[in-house]
Amino acid sequence: MTYSYTQISQYLRCPRSYRYRYLDGWREKDTRAAMVFGRCFETALGAYFRREDSTAVLFKEWGAFRDAPFEYRKGDSWDRLVHQGVHLLQKFAQDDRVQVLRPQENLQVKLLRILDGNNEFVGYIDALGALDGQECLIDWKTTTSRYAEEPEGLLTLDPQLICYSWISGIPDVALVGFVRKQQPEIQYLKASISEEQRREFGRLVETTVGQVETGQFPSHSGIRFPQNGCVGCPHLGLCLNDQQLIDVNLIRRPGASDIDWLDELVD
Ligand code: SF4
Repeated sequence: MTYSYTQISQYLRCPRSYRYRYLDGWREKDTRAAMVFGRCFETALGAYFRREDSTAVLFKEWGAFRDAPFEYRKGDSWDRLVHQGVHLLQKFAQDDRVQVLRPQENLQVKLLRILDGNNEFVGYIDALGALDGQECLIDWKTTTSRYAEEPEGLLTLDPQLICYSWISGIPDVALVGFVRKQQPEIQYLKASISEEQRREFGRLVETTVGQVETGQFPSHSGIRFPQNGCVGCPHLGLCLNDQQLIDVNLIRRPGASDIDWLDELVD
């Protein structure tokens, strides 16, 4: 069985939701414009490092979805997203703070780790490069809100960066946040992950895999107020037996778990 960060984090969020998705095959429909746009934007970033015309690539990739029946957030539209994307690509080039040598090898780097019991863990690191001259592994995010930068050191607790540090053995990590807001902004955040954090994450993976393999899938709806984890959960319709919600949000594709790691390309 191949595990990924997406799988482990979904189990930790709610084991029942994990079962719906990975055992029963209920996947969320690809109707969220922001998620698909993020994928197109990252393709354009790849073009930037290969010294191609990244703006043209963004128009081409996102252009394929011009008439797609997406759900847009209030105030968003196809045009607005592409303008924000172009602005962010230009700003990224002007800032010139990130270097990736040999982009064919160092973008979307696949890493594999063998786990106990014939299992493996696969991860895709967005880039291996340098930020402000310091070598690190880099994760891109397109987002509509800024990442919290305080208190100092907060980024060292980011589970996805800890995971990538664990699978690669690289302590220095960076998150480059492309913030789509009124005035688009790019955040360049750095952190250092300790050896102890990597070991701890390895133990968390082994424990979680053990729980999956022994069939433990209790529902874990989270706290009741103010953040109810069920409200944003794509599987809410299944838990409530609400066919309308199921039809709107989900599509059933049994056996899809073996390609789940592809999701990390856009995480
Ligand atoms: S709706 Fe709540 S309990 Fe049901 S799978 Fe989602 S998070 Fe878990």
